[in-house]
Amino acid sequence: MKSHVRVAVIGGGAMGASLIYHLTQLGWGDVVLIEKNELTAGSTWHAAGLCTHYAHNITIMNLRAHSVKLYQSVLAEETGQAVSFHACGALRVTRHQDRLDEFRQVQGIGKFAGFDFHILSPQELKEIYPLARVDDLIGAIYEPLDGHVDPSQATQAMAKGARNRGAEIYRHTRVTAIDQKTNGEWLITTDKGEVTAEHIVNAAGTWCREIGAMMGVDLPVVPMLHQYIVSDRIDAFAELDQELPMIRDPDESWYLRMERDGVIIGPYEKQGKPWSIDGVPPEFGMELLEPDIDAIADIAGLAMERVPAAAEGGIKSIVNGPITFTPDANPLIGPAFNLRNAWLLTGSSMGIMEGGGAGKFLAEWMDAGEPPMDALAIDSRRFGGYADRDYRVDKAVECFAAQFGIHYPYEERLAGRNKKLTPAYELLKSKGAVFGSAYGFERPNWYSRNPGVTESSLSFRRANWFDTVAAECENLQQNVGLADLSVFSKFRVRGKGAVAFIEQLGANSAPQTGRIGLIHVLAESGGVMSEFSVSRLAEDEFYLASAAAAGRHDEDLLRARAHELDLQLENITDRKGVFGIMGPNAEIMLQQICDQDLSIAAFPWLGASRIEIAGIAVEALRVSYVGEPGFELHHDIDQQQALLQHLLQAGENFELGFYGAFAMNSMRLEKAYRAWGVDLTTERTPLEAGLGYLVKTDGREFIGRDAMLARQQSEDRWSMELLEFEEPEFDPFYMHTIFRGDEAIGMVTSGSYGHRLQKAIGLAYFHTPISSDDELSVEILGRKSRASVTTAL
Ligand SMILES: Cc1cc2nc3c(=O)[nH]c(=O)nc-3n(C[C@H](O)[C@H](O)[C@H](O)COP(=O)(O)OP(=O)(O)OC[C@H]3O[C@@H](n4cnc5c(N)ncnc54)[C@H](O)[C@@H]3O)c2cc1C
Repeated sequence: MKSHVRVAVIGGGAMGASLIYHLTQLGWGDVVLIEKNELTAGSTWHAAGLCTHYAHNITIMNLRAHSVKLYQSVLAEETGQAVSFHACGALRVTRHQDRLDEFRQVQGIGKFAGFDFHILSPQELKEIYPLARVDDLIGAIYEPLDGHVDPSQATQAMAKGARNRGAEIYRHTRVTAIDQKTNGEWLITTDKGEVTAEHIVNAAGTWCREIGAMMGVDLPVVPMLHQYIVSDRIDAFAELDQELPMIRDPDESWYLRMERDGVIIGPYEKQGKPWSIDGVPPEFGMELLEPDIDAIADIAGLAMERVPAAAEGGIKSIVNGPITFTPDANPLIGPAFNLRNAWLLTGSSMGIMEGGGAGKFLAEWMDAGEPPMDALAIDSRRFGGYADRDYRVDKAVECFAAQFGIHYPYEERLAGRNKKLTPAYELLKSKGAVFGSAYGFERPNWYSRNPGVTESSLSFRRANWFDTVAAECENLQQNVGLADLSVFSKFRVRGKGAVAFIEQLGANSAPQTGRIGLIHVLAESGGVMSEFSVSRLAEDEFYLASAAAAGRHDEDLLRARAHELDLQLENITDRKGVFGIMGPNAEIMLQQICDQDLSIAAFPWLGASRIEIAGIAVEALRVSYVGEPGFELHHDIDQQQALLQHLLQAGENFELGFYGAFAMNSMRLEKAYRAWGVDLTTERTPLEAGLGYLVKTDGREFIGRDAMLARQQSEDRWSMELLEFEEPEFDPFYMHTIFRGDEAIGMVTSGSYGHRLQKAIGLAYFHTPISSDDELSVEILGRKSRASVTTAL
């Protein structure tokens, strides 16, 4: 065993092997992988090997596509090691309109990303899959590029490719302790000796929580037991000329594929079983768990009703093994929160179809210091401290049951709720607030006016809140509205080095004292990593607010950039609440309970000041995300209830109403305000996003500056526009492809109905220049309608 290496990867499953394959491909030397057993000995060896492109997120679709590409040809050609990839394609069938909508949404994403999906009628399905009953179906989606692979062979091939390029693999070597040295390097103790590594990667699959604990990070994952049945020979399948596509009925929650002369049937039951929640035994190895046929018989029976021939074979074996589930069923990829040179590549519940691509993604991230694509859906820091034991178990059980669930836009799931309730929660609930969950917080999405309606309906079309949100927007536009915005991530930066820190933080310069600035922090390649509204409350004191979901991501970012500066950086998210008071009556209403002069002359747009509202100290910011005048009142959270009472009282004469996140989203789009995480990602620079007015380059140095400017001069630059859609049949939400003729040239990153503009709108990126003569169209749920560039409110 080497004593010092550049990177040590723990875990020799599909994920770990893929990482060393791709790191060595990028030229990394001194790469080692440590595996306590044989390679593939965790979940990998017994996986059913299904690989798909189907995904609701374009980054995940790309991860999966890369895996398929690798398994289909690249690996075998490079290493000479067979991986048994069967390019049989895949089908998903349905009896439900909502599911068909989801198929169309995924197909639409595929059109932009360049991956083929076809919507089939039941008759077309029957032609492709003659053994299926189709009489009760309304359609299917066909994924011709999909296939299945032998997971062990694929992992061995990746390991071989990595070894050929110099990586070393230590099998039968168990990691027993991990410590970070004072110089930042990692000391890894194993039962075969010690190794010091500059970078450490946790790819320990089922055991990733245990390895995480050794590293000093608490991972919100739970192993869930999953089973599939392997049948004996079935003549109807064995005698076919060619392999049938894999078939899934997501509504009934099963997959079925051919395996030699029989089939494999994999049901995901509604009551999944968490396993070894508080610690996976270190000695657990290649063994399987006892089959539990009773748990899956019903769903397997449904599969046999759909494909009657599948019932003709006896059961050869049942495979029962653990799969790690995160709270949203997406993997954890990227830096480990609050640790230096420590990475995660784990938590994948589909680590074969994701493994090939995930290893490439992380290798490129480690190599470049930034993710190769937008990472929000998979970023290892997307869960905060609220993700405790109950949360991770409840969410894992929910995700397992919803393994084939429909991913509705605006969907709010029910498990793991009420983790963080603001003091205003009960009162807002009594006013009709229908809450959604944002980074553990309960955040009002909209305010129901009908006591009998307390939940959002789920649909890809207009939901039950449409009219109510219209009324919230109208009242805000005419009178005044209050929103609980406490979910923001909030940071305080103060001290001698604070000004220099903020000055070099991002694309905009530090605001003057008493002013607010919007600062985009860039990656080296010029893309937007984070967006902070920065209020300078004193000469050397700044208050930063950013997106709720960015909590750990932004804390990591700020700490890394503040390194070695003389300043204090505090995450004060849970100590501060925020109310938005917006609308033409906002100023006059607040003036009733405030002694300071709030007039626009005394307190101008983008002003920030410590004032008192009804005797309660607040940081008042004259800023608005909704396009109507108003203030954000940032206050100590223990003052929230008292402040709310005063605001409600003052609002009585001014038609004070409430507005939620859905109204805010619609109104910010009408103003073409970009949202971090959807419109602003590491993929695009602020100049491409059309935010040139927030970019100050003259005489300033900041990370990403030169790359941003260079991209603007290159052929590769994209541009963002606000579009309006002419009578679309459905309101836009996200990821709709924009066409010029038949050419896919852009993608809507966020969209909504604009109630003030009275039309459907969306922000879209174009990868090619457009002109006013271009005939553009947007495709939403398979229907095209005219699109044109429009002016923001
Ligand atoms: C029945 C079943 C069917 C499945 N079907 C599919 C499918 O069709 N498609 C799909 O994409 N996914 C499928 N999966 C999921 C898939 O198997 C996993 O997502 C994937 O194998 C995870 O790979 P991994 O590399 O993250 O983890 P693992 O394969 O679990 O690898 C982790 C490795 O870390 C090692 N390790 C742990 N602790 C230590 C230590 N202390 N020191 C050194 N080494 C250590 C382990 O020995 C293990 O080899 C299925 C899973 C099950 C259970």
